[in-house]
Amino acid sequence: TPGKEAPVSDCLFCRIAAGSLPAKIVHQDPQCVAFEDLHPQAPTHVLVIPRKHVSSLRECGPEDQAILGHLLLACAAVARQKGLGEHGYRIVANSGRDGGQTVFHLHFHLLGGRAMTWPPG
Ligand code: 5GP
Ligand code: ZN
Repeated sequence: TPGKEAPVSDCLFCRIAAGSLPAKIVHQDPQCVAFEDLHPQAPTHVLVIPRKHVSSLRECGPEDQAILGHLLLACAAVARQKGLGEHGYRIVANSGRDGGQTVFHLHFHLLGGRAMTWPPG
């Protein structure tokens, strides 16, 4: 897929994953990195990203099944670590323009610490 493994030195989240742009990292392992959102929309707002550059969920295929599962389990692990297990939380993947995506490196938002509303805006 074009853009999927492009040179990514200009990608904000690739730079965070590589450690060349500072972030408050809350979890990392060989496949993913989780860090605090710069503009939190809830008391807990963490972004969970793959180390490998993928621009959005729209570009994912069957070959990404394992990493997608890994990212969601990482979201759940960070939620547990942040004490959100009892009251719950929300996972969001904004995908493309209508989804409200602004950074084109796949990421899951983990939001918690307050009651969410539905439907989202
Ligand atoms: P999107 O709108 O693409 O779903 O989410 C992008 C998120 O990345 C936003 O919530 C935004 O606040 C966050 N963000 C943008 N730039 C940075 C940055 O340099 N550092 C961190 N930690 N978060 C960022
Ligand atoms: Zn990237």
